Amino acid sequence: MTVPPAPVRVRLAPSPTGFVHIGNVLVALVDAAIARQAGGTLVIRIEDTDQKRFVDGAEELIYESLHWLGIEWQEAPDRGGPFAPYRQSARLPLYQEHAERLIAQGDAYRCWCSPDRLEQMRFAQQAAKLPPKYDRRCLGMTEAERKALDGYTPDSVVRLRMHDSGSTTFTDPIRGTLAFENGLLDDRVLLKSDGFPTYNLAVVVDDHLMRITHVVRGEEWLPSTPAHLRVYEALGWDPPLIAHTPLLLNADRGKISKRRHPWANMQWFRDQGFLPEAVLNYLGNLIAFVPDTENPAPGVARELFGFDEIAAHFNLASIGPSGKVVDIDRLDWLNGQYIRRMSVEDLAVKAAPFLAAAGYDVNTLPTYRAALALEHERIKRLSQAPQALSFFFDDEEYDPAMLVPRGATAGRALELLDGAIAVCQAVAESGDWTVSTLDDRFRAHAEARGLTTGKLRGQLFGVVRVGSTGRTATPPLFDTLAVLGASVVLRRLSVARNHLESLAAIDGPPAEGQ
Ligand code: GLU
Repeated sequence: MTVPPAPVRVRLAPSPTGFVHIGNVLVALVDAAIARQAGGTLVIRIEDTDQKRFVDGAEELIYESLHWLGIEWQEAPDRGGPFAPYRQSARLPLYQEHAERLIAQGDAYRCWCSPDRLEQMRFAQQAAKLPPKYDRRCLGMTEAERKALDGYTPDSVVRLRMHDSGSTTFTDPIRGTLAFENGLLDDRVLLKSDGFPTYNLAVVVDDHLMRITHVVRGEEWLPSTPAHLRVYEALGWDPPLIAHTPLLLNADRGKISKRRHPWANMQWFRDQGFLPEAVLNYLGNLIAFVPDTENPAPGVARELFGFDEIAAHFNLASIGPSGKVVDIDRLDWLNGQYIRRMSVEDLAVKAAPFLAAAGYDVNTLPTYRAALALEHERIKRLSQAPQALSFFFDDEEYDPAMLVPRGATAGRALELLDGAIAVCQAVAESGDWTVSTLDDRFRAHAEARGLTTGKLRGQLFGVVRVGSTGRTATPPLFDTLAVLGASVVLRRLSVARNHLESLAAIDGPPAEGQ
């Protein structure tokens, strides 16, 4: 097979099932990279001939997902083009016409076998350990002849007649030359009884008529390719270059299951607050080696890059046929890198919908940006913003026992807290509720109270931390107190004081020396 001449035309042929699989997105990225590299055209063709699977809004979801990632296309149902219509359901006469031509040439035939008969045939083949394929009961028969036999139905389909012997070979740029023994290949259905084509007919007719030069699809379609090549041959058409991308695997190197791996669904990445740049970068890593230009050394890849770099360094042949593990931890890391590089202002805008979905209205928190700035480095997904920031919005419930530092009693914690409240009051009265003043005054206080070891100071700060935030882990304490503001801190510390009083009452008076 020779490489087809320019102009390069690639296509993405999604079925509108309402679910955009991450594997299809990878294929879309490969398509877009091929088109960009060659200055070619990316076509989106909607393969909606399986009416049972039709889902409202599914087509929009496909456009939206690609758009979100920054993948651009030139021809599609939503924008037209020279080969319109781009929705297969609007092209039915074309498929019927080609099916008729194949029948007239003897390359396809009608089949009147009932679903029951086909099922029995499959059972018998299974029992005899034979490859599952149609036994050609209808081949060479007129309808009248076939009707005389059992297992007949008037609803005929059209089947492709495969060759009886020899083999079908083709060269996949990702996998090399592949050969299929014709004798093992099934006479697949091309046209269904309702007049709709199957994928196997429609895909070939459309790829040819739309002048597609490169077909890229997932490995799961590989078994269909010999049938497609047979259709190309029978219609006297040159096939395009056909490449099958490797499967995406889970961390255990197993197949992705929609049920066990929610990230099989592209929507998940958006819902979790991954940034499109990070997802694109991650997928780009699976298909292109982008050298690090700042630290040029053989085999050293650049970590952060965008579509331009993917398109510049992408090479179909180097993708390799083996499955690609999707490592969500790595994606989290990458997403965190992109989040860190954003301005707080940008992050504030992007995190706001996630906070709103969790019930936090950012307009009610004047210190929203300052609070976000404190969490900026820790947030890996935007969906973590509500959990990271909730204590800035609300006085949260917590277990009062958390106020008692390890190795201390409630009475001792109360003493530490009283000291801290006095410090906070003094700072509040000074009118200088800032990180540096809080820091200075607390350190002076610790010194004065003899809290000179790390452990003792840690106990003091621990009580203040839990009392003011309800958490044991927060951003740096004085920054947090500064953003929370004096009145919130004093209110929360007084609630904490009540908790500790109750705990101390249960515990009894502090023992000597504590
Ligand atoms: N409609 C098929 C799909 O949903 C297209 C496969 C192909 O690209 O040929 O993936």
